Amino acid sequence: MNDEQALKAAREAFTARFGTEPAGVWAAPGRVNVIGEHTDYNGGFVLPMALPHTTRAAVAPRTDGAVAFSSVQQPEDDVVVPVAELTPGHPSGWAGYPAGVVHGLRDAVAAVGGLSVLVDSDVPAGAGLSSSAALECAVALAVRDLCAPGLSADDLVDVARRAENDFVGAPTGILDQSASMLCTEGHALFLDTRDRSREQVPFDLAAAGLALLVVDTGQAHEHAGGGYGDRRRECEDAAARLGVQLLREVDDVAALAVLDDGTAEGEVLLRRARHIVTEDARVLEVVATLRAKDDVRAIGPVLTAGHESLRDDFQISTDLLDLVVEAAVGAGAYGARMVGGGFGGSAIALVDADRLDEVTAAIVQRFTAVAPAPPRTFVAVPSAGARRLG
Ligand code: ADP
Ligand code: MG
Repeated sequence: MNDEQALKAAREAFTARFGTEPAGVWAAPGRVNVIGEHTDYNGGFVLPMALPHTTRAAVAPRTDGAVAFSSVQQPEDDVVVPVAELTPGHPSGWAGYPAGVVHGLRDAVAAVGGLSVLVDSDVPAGAGLSSSAALECAVALAVRDLCAPGLSADDLVDVARRAENDFVGAPTGILDQSASMLCTEGHALFLDTRDRSREQVPFDLAAAGLALLVVDTGQAHEHAGGGYGDRRRECEDAAARLGVQLLREVDDVAALAVLDDGTAEGEVLLRRARHIVTEDARVLEVVATLRAKDDVRAIGPVLTAGHESLRDDFQISTDLLDLVVEAAVGAGAYGARMVGGGFGGSAIALVDADRLDEVTAAIVQRFTAVAPAPPRTFVAVPSAGARRLG
């Protein structure tokens, strides 16, 4: 769906739901992370790109001091709450994400009398493509434009991240919200999550005759569930034992040996830390290749090494994700890896554009031999970040 169609659909859905015209429509994209998984809450490096898939928020001020949330994707779950009654955990469910954003800017929203928010999206939810950040960022941009015009893009990243962490209770880092808010068309976003410095790195796969294939396994993950938080705590424990604030500060894998104290726990911490330290190095390697305008194919094996590290050291892959990666590489992909928080979701594969159908068919064939339904596949083109559509 292009921006014009998305704008029209969101306007119509808003009018059907609320009986008035929206004041505007804002869009924010999902993302795939090219490399740099779970590094964000360790102060490390990430390299996401925005997807063409977006979440749209059609929004208008109200007069009753309430916020109303309605989603085309969850038509049974409309929520209306007085702004003054928003509190972390209430409302729960899907509306927690946009409610968290409004809560973060509640004085500004209360000053305009509340908001009606209609959400529509083509970002698959729970697929590791960051529908949650797309939802938060679309609403954050709308609230900024309608209620709090002084805020910067970085402020909005913080508002959106706090919505996810503190209001919904999903302990994610800054990657997803930064990607959705800050990515630009034709680029990957090289972000240092420690000081938030960033660079838009040209990432023109089509010009190199390549395509980035996304394979959504359909196995939904849940960040608010346990696995993600466990990994985060393990990284914090490893950093504490190493005497550093953040694992980002370690750049030599050999320095991690002290973690292995002969106990099972020590071995786990070594594995977790080794993933983070080697993953930061992989981000730098990929960025160096892209900056040098070297052969983009060279990033392929680095992506596959990233997958192996997530599988063996971070232990967050699944059999289906491993199968997709193996099938892709076996069919001639230059590299492949799972993306997102893990325990389900999607994988990416770097393939020759003219062999895309062949590689996709090989993956689908292996996949359907073990899974009840085929995966959803599409080509990811580096797209624009959050923006106003009209
Ligand atoms: P991901 O960000 O990888 O898609 P998350 O678990 O972080 O997965 O976020 C998915 C959740 O975000 C959904 O379960 C739902 O609560 C919410 N969400 C995302 N997009 C929408 C939407 N268009 N309408 C309603 N809820 C949505
Ligand atoms: Mg998410």
